[in-house]
Amino acid sequence: MGSDVENDISREIFSYSQRFDIQTGLLNHQAFQDELAATLRNRATGSEIALLWIDLVNLRREFSLWGWAGAEALARRVAETLRSVVEAGALLGRIGGRSFLVAIEVSKRDKQAGLRLQNVVDALASVRSRGLETRPQVAAGVAFYPVDTESPEDLFRFASLAAHRASYVKTKAVVAFDPGMNTLVQRDHSLEVEMRKGLDQNQFSLVYQPKIDLASGDVLGAEALIRWKHPQLGNVTPGEFIPVAERSDLIHRIFDIGLHEALEQMQRWRMAGIELPAIAVNASAANVRSDDFARSVGTIMGQLPIGSTELELEMTESLAFEDEELFTSRMRQLKAIGVRIAIDDFGTRYTGFNVLKHLPLDTMKIDQCFIRGIDRSPGMRSLCQTIVAMARQLNLQTVAEGIEEQGELDVMREIGCDGGQGYLFQRPVPADAFEEFLRNWPRRKLEFGFPKGRIGVEHEPVCTFAETVTRVIQPVACL
Ligand code: C2E
Ligand code: MG
Ligand code: MG
Repeated sequence: MGSDVENDISREIFSYSQRFDIQTGLLNHQAFQDELAATLRNRATGSEIALLWIDLVNLRREFSLWGWAGAEALARRVAETLRSVVEAGALLGRIGGRSFLVAIEVSKRDKQAGLRLQNVVDALASVRSRGLETRPQVAAGVAFYPVDTESPEDLFRFASLAAHRASYVKTKAVVAFDPGMNTLVQRDHSLEVEMRKGLDQNQFSLVYQPKIDLASGDVLGAEALIRWKHPQLGNVTPGEFIPVAERSDLIHRIFDIGLHEALEQMQRWRMAGIELPAIAVNASAANVRSDDFARSVGTIMGQLPIGSTELELEMTESLAFEDEELFTSRMRQLKAIGVRIAIDDFGTRYTGFNVLKHLPLDTMKIDQCFIRGIDRSPGMRSLCQTIVAMARQLNLQTVAEGIEEQGELDVMREIGCDGGQGYLFQRPVPADAFEEFLRNWPRRKLEFGFPKGRIGVEHEPVCTFAETVTRVIQPVACL
């Protein structure tokens, strides 16, 4: 990278992107959660906070009609309108691309409360994007603190449940949370019961997705991802059951089973003459927090030696952010037993490089939000270039997650990202299909423009300070 000033500015841009949704300037998920927690802690005794959850129902349709530019233009107009109608001191956020959050001080018992909240939502009806063609279609729900719940996490869930209800019954009215909606909680409970049975009955299995060296096209390793096939519910996604497992002790069994099975599979492959340089297993913050985490990893590794293959554990930044000291000490214990450590979904929280630089990490996996449509977004390209350059300064290997298109692959190669993973190369598949992938890859990789030998590509120089700040930052949120 260039001068210190450039470094500072790049860092500033990067840290901005970690706290704010870049398209709209609203707080992102993590920052909103933190700010809301602080607001709840500091509120005056007796006051109540309403969390209004507004889903932009037609954002995905907008994307199909107009592409990212259209969808994001609409999102920006919604954000501007929200800013103009809510009172000073309200918190505004955008999460998961299509959801907008407003937290304001208002009492559920106040007769005007419903009207005030409805006014905020009604104001969105006047928003126009692309001339007169598009109006936002919204579904809105609200939950009140502390009347509906005293847990900030439940406040989110309840407001989102209420918005879900609003979209289900297709009403323009703000729907208030009521405990009857809390089927999610009941579903959590029954999922947990089913999960316990499923773990005893071997309903869980692993699928594998390759990580590819973006310079040579060689296979760097595989990520093991867990799957659950329930006899009645069918395939339950990790997105559904991992959060439930994390709220119970089941996450420890899931981790142990996943690690055990992944290492056993590596042994089977090795016996069959198939060598993979590395295998990665995901660990939740709850796993890492547990006192004997490193010891139990060491025990399983001792039972299933995997030769020269390296084991990498992928974990999100959340624990590093919550408890840097604990995270650092766990990382050191893991490094001592020869485990590599990857930060997963990098960029979705806001740990920042200042925290990361103290941690003994090996790999940074850049979240797929940054990769999606990067070939059509100069701003996102600059941002990823900055991330890759900073990671290199910290001696971290970079891996781009969720590469789906050739254009995305080309950009990530050009900017010098070390590795990539995504449907473009291979969806996650069971072990036998993964073997087939490995057999075909040396031939298939040529289709993606990888060289026959091991010659790397020329990397573009990192963009200059002037380029970084003058290019319009036009990243794409995850819709
Ligand atoms: P992750 O670790 O970031 O895994 C990547 C996710 O992205 C996987 O979803 C994968 O199937 C998906 N993916 C890969 N390439 C593409 C692509 O090109 N496009 C798109 N749209 N998606 C792609 P999956 O398997 O549903 O897992 C979701 C998350 O659940 C994982 O995210 C991980 O955080 C968690 N998870 C999965 N297995 C385990 C596990 O054994 N233990 C724990 N604690 N978490 C797990
Ligand atoms: Mg992962
Ligand atoms: Mg990830």
